[in-house]
Amino acid sequence: MWIDPLSRLIHRHAGQHGPVMLMYHSVSPRNGTPDWPWAVSIQRFRSQLDFLAEAGWATPTMAELVAAPEKWAGRTAVITFDDGYVDNLVAWEELQKRGMRATWFMVSGSIAREPAWPDDGRPAGRLLNAAELRAIQATGMEIGSHTANHVRLTEADDNVLRGELSNSKEVLEDVLGSEISSFAYPYGAWDARSVNAVRAAGYRAACTTRTGWALRDGDACQLRRLTMFNTDTVGSLARKLYFGSNDVSWHTLANHTLKRLRNRARL
Ligand SMILES: [Zn+2]
Repeated sequence: MWIDPLSRLIHRHAGQHGPVMLMYHSVSPRNGTPDWPWAVSIQRFRSQLDFLAEAGWATPTMAELVAAPEKWAGRTAVITFDDGYVDNLVAWEELQKRGMRATWFMVSGSIAREPAWPDDGRPAGRLLNAAELRAIQATGMEIGSHTANHVRLTEADDNVLRGELSNSKEVLEDVLGSEISSFAYPYGAWDARSVNAVRAAGYRAACTTRTGWALRDGDACQLRRLTMFNTDTVGSLARKLYFGSNDVSWHTLANHTLKRLRNRARL
């Protein structure tokens, strides 16, 4: 697959700072760049998976990573999907074809329905239903929670906070017949209080949208993730994997390189 030579060069040393997590939302079946920043086209998604496979990235679920972080010392990228759009079924197929895994974070109050939280330009359509979630889980993928109502936890009072976490866990465990141990904070909004509430509700791990190496903070309930946007190419993915950052524009990279050269000149 084609990738610009500079990104390929930069990526050669990727994977030395520990696992990364990638956050996807919608996967568009149409050609071209989707309008919604958090949707990726299926062609781009396919080439991103091909690149991860070709470059030797392991793709465990979030639960697998957290259960034994020492096992994932090499190139490791945990693929995650927030919200559970029905268009993710094609992504699931592509993952299976390549023997890759992923983790889906579901809003339990909107299973099989149109999302009940405010629309921000996302594609129309329902979220995955119970049968689909069971089928996805049966192929080794993980289903996690994303609250009951896609609530911004940092703004919820204590009762709502507790309810959002425990109700969602119960409903999803009922649907799937197994423990739900992973969680993703809606809007990436978290603070010390919500981290404690996540633990108290019985989750083992939770991820934010703060960028960086997943395990950098040494806290399984504050895992960092990189965001995959509509405009991301294989090249920008390769650079994100190396820098552990969403900001991999050529402008940023030029500054980074200049700084390194200057430091070297000083030695
Ligand atoms: Zn969400």
